[in-house]
Amino acid sequence: MTSKTIETQEQLEERMSALGYLDDGTRRHVICSLIGHSRYITSFFGYQYCGRCSDQIGDALASVGRDGVVTAEHLAWGDCDECEKARPSLTWRDTYLLTEEAAKVEYATRAESDAAIRAAGESLSRKAKEGVL
Ligand SMILES: [Zn+2]
Ligand SMILES: [Zn+2]
Repeated sequence: MTSKTIETQEQLEERMSALGYLDDGTRRHVICSLIGHSRYITSFFGYQYCGRCSDQIGDALASVGRDGVVTAEHLAWGDCDECEKARPSLTWRDTYLLTEEAAKVEYATRAESDAAIRAAGESLSRKAKEGVL
């Protein structure tokens, strides 16, 4: 693997297309290995998971001092000033190819979220029909 750093989404997509077909899980992990885990995370019983590849990346204790991490659920509940403050600092590296679960709360309103999830589901079932999955 070359050490050329990836600065833009276009460079990432170029690199990914050079790798050819990867299944969804593998693709997500490769992307995280290239640009790092998303700082947009989901949490479950105190454990924290990358919003892109779903790897466990720490627990509430381990993340103390990890700057700019935004927990999806905190935004959804709207009760965490720290996450609201960190939210604008997220970049494409954090929001690229989020999991459906993380993306659900990335959207500002319920309606937008429902529409996005519907669209993702339709695209999945279309791919399944076409035999891509
Ligand atoms: Zn990741
Ligand atoms: Zn928070």
